[in-house]
Amino acid sequence: MKRARPMPPSPFTLEAMTEEKEQRYDPAAIEPKWQQRWAADPKMYAAEPASSGKPKYYVLEMLPYPSGQLHMGHVRNYSIGDALARHMWMRGYNVLHPMGWDAFGLPAENAALKNNTPPREWTLSNIAAMKRQMLRLGLGYDWATEVTTCLPDYYRWNQWFFLRMYEKGLVYRKKSKVNWCPECATVLANEQVIDGRCWRHEDTIVEQRDLEQWFFRITAYADELLAGLDKLEGWPEKVRTMQRNWIGRSEGTEVDFTLEGGAEKIRVFTTRVDTIFGATSVQLAPQHALVAAFTAADPALKALVDELLDQQKKAREAGDLGAIEKHGVPTGRYAINPYNGELVPIWVANYILADYGTGAIMSVPGHDERDFEFAKKYNLPIIEVIRPAGEDTPVALPFLSEDGILVNSGEYDALTCTEAQAQLQRAATRQGFGEATVTYRLKDWGVSRQRYWGTPIPMINCPHDGLVAVPDDQLPVLLPEQIQITQQGGSPLSRVPEFVNTTCPKCGGPARRETDTMDTFVDSSWYFYRYTDAKNSTAPFDPKIAQYWFPIDQYIGGVEHAILHLIYSRYWTKVMRDLGLIVNDEPARRLFTQGMVIKDGAKMSKSKGNVVSPDDMVVRYGADATRMYALFAAPPDRDLDWQEDGVAGVSRFLGRVWRLATKYAPVARQAGSGPAAAPTGLALKLLRKQHQTIAKITLDFEGRWHFNTCVAAIMEFVNDLQAVDAQLAAGEVPAPVIAELLRSLVLLLSPFAPYLAAELWEDIGGEGAVLRAPWPKSDPALAKEDELEIPVQINGKLVNVVRVPAGADAKTIEEAALADGKVQSRIAGKTVAKVIVVPGRTCNLVVK
Ligand SMILES: [Zn+2]
Ligand SMILES: [Zn+2]
Repeated sequence: MKRARPMPPSPFTLEAMTEEKEQRYDPAAIEPKWQQRWAADPKMYAAEPASSGKPKYYVLEMLPYPSGQLHMGHVRNYSIGDALARHMWMRGYNVLHPMGWDAFGLPAENAALKNNTPPREWTLSNIAAMKRQMLRLGLGYDWATEVTTCLPDYYRWNQWFFLRMYEKGLVYRKKSKVNWCPECATVLANEQVIDGRCWRHEDTIVEQRDLEQWFFRITAYADELLAGLDKLEGWPEKVRTMQRNWIGRSEGTEVDFTLEGGAEKIRVFTTRVDTIFGATSVQLAPQHALVAAFTAADPALKALVDELLDQQKKAREAGDLGAIEKHGVPTGRYAINPYNGELVPIWVANYILADYGTGAIMSVPGHDERDFEFAKKYNLPIIEVIRPAGEDTPVALPFLSEDGILVNSGEYDALTCTEAQAQLQRAATRQGFGEATVTYRLKDWGVSRQRYWGTPIPMINCPHDGLVAVPDDQLPVLLPEQIQITQQGGSPLSRVPEFVNTTCPKCGGPARRETDTMDTFVDSSWYFYRYTDAKNSTAPFDPKIAQYWFPIDQYIGGVEHAILHLIYSRYWTKVMRDLGLIVNDEPARRLFTQGMVIKDGAKMSKSKGNVVSPDDMVVRYGADATRMYALFAAPPDRDLDWQEDGVAGVSRFLGRVWRLATKYAPVARQAGSGPAAAPTGLALKLLRKQHQTIAKITLDFEGRWHFNTCVAAIMEFVNDLQAVDAQLAAGEVPAPVIAELLRSLVLLLSPFAPYLAAELWEDIGGEGAVLRAPWPKSDPALAKEDELEIPVQINGKLVNVVRVPAGADAKTIEEAALADGKVQSRIAGKTVAKVIVVPGRTCNLVVK
């Protein structure tokens, strides 16, 4: 049985007790009422067809994994997107604001194992729970376009895309070393290995295993993925930099050294072929094929190489291969430099990686820092082959710059490094021992997973025909529903005979289905296209509809997706374009990555016990206060340290808005929207504040996104109104002006606190839904600040009066005074010893 938790004191309740009951702002009454009304109107947040004639706006937040519980990071992400969507609706746009579920993945299997609940059931009930939370938060999604990636009507198109890519040679299978997490009992993508450990299991060291794997040939688009980044000006520079580094393009040369006394070629990759006359060894990765040949005949060498392998493995496990202490072993064999015929010793070294470049390098200690260290350590020769232009004598080595000329390089002497690289590449091509080449850090995307809860790969193994694609008319290949999850020994589907055993589409004989499923990053690579036509049962989507909505105008999500999801979905977009389905090159015009929500300086996590539940916040303070606080507490791109006092503060503020608006609502209703006489005095002052606030918030929605200062501006506006409550009550401000002030206040509030705005809009006699009311326009003439006249005194005597904007600070006033002609003539030739400014009143100069 659960122990009852003592109720923590609620600031909301405490404050409420000090007020008269009928004046209490009660989100628990207001919010569910509007939630029901909105649910009863399916058109409320619905996207309209292109024929609406309105400009389109597609705003998208990254879809969540259905864990069963929204966390505060979600609330923040969705509050930003929802504020933007509401603002765009009010600006008259046809807005697409969808939501869905990234519903495949391992946690469903873990839960199945733990609770004996089928993954599908567990996932769908989590989705229902999170959808309830989203509805309670008042998030304005078009649920008619909802996408759930674990359902066959979605994942059949994953299979369809897989087959299209297979036809185009963009899918292939090969045996390869894979990252294996013993905890997940599955293969991980390189991107899912962080510091040698599983991305889900921080304490689990990832092992290497050999398995037949399916790959997407993302490297076929490496150049375009890289070049496209320059055009993505609406993406954060940090994301573009991360993608550039991840793609890791480097231009260089591949050169074959020949094994002395043999025919074997050792292909090395170098970015500095101009230094090749300075190569004093060739170094191989311990896993290099030639090393196996050497050690087979030499047990002593084998023992030494095994040590190197062990060191590499330990460094990989420690997560810092870059910092490995460099060790090498000479093999006693030599290789021939094809440019000058010289023999260089062949070494095996622990810092050479089998999967980078060709797994072999030439070592040039005169012009490479790392090679220099290695040569010093093992007493290898160091030869100077590059020298700064104009130097007659050798310079200190290593000399690393590419700004120099060649020496000790035979016929290439006196060439610049750049000229030499081009000539050496041409010579290699001409003589057939090498070529110019480009290498990438980006590897093809391994998509095979030995998991149950994912999209089945639509391939069949036939004893006669080999690999056979499942024909389109047999899609989807359905996941079997009843299955025993054990998470041991590879693919769970391989233990389901009804699934595995099938007939070959070619010969009709018995055959076996592929039992791996697809990486769940496949699901999220194109889900946002499906939103545009989510019910389509004959195609992934109608190209005409996608063309209307794409690219996404604003995508919002966490920066942790910068190199996984956001590269894969760019790849998928290019593939779909080349399949003729879409015309856009990139999925999203603008990308915004919000900061994290932390608590007491640390990321919220169960183990730290610092998790704040959105449900608790909504119960105590309401959805509006929770959402508004998430926007108010920090600029959206920074981390937000969650403070409950802050939520309580926002709730109190909304209470003040509610009291102010309800107090003057009868005045506003009676005044209607009739024309006001030319406002003067206090009315003019309040209208000025109103139009300044509109201008500021509008500007922020147009790109700056300082929503925290937007909320602060609304607070200031409300403060100004409350400060003159007595005058308002005494009728000193004409009723039509009061009506105008309240309308603006409610409209400005509505993207941030939609429930309260809906309630107050109705209360003050606003027509229709506040969501469809036009966003207020700022009148620059009304927004303009008044000027003040400031008397300037010199040594106590009035000299002149200067005009400054109302609210000018001391420095502005001092500058205006010193720039004044009369003042300047009085102080000419004298020293200004002191300037005393009373802002808004006077400026005194003490002159000697
Ligand atoms: Zn794991
Ligand atoms: Zn067959």
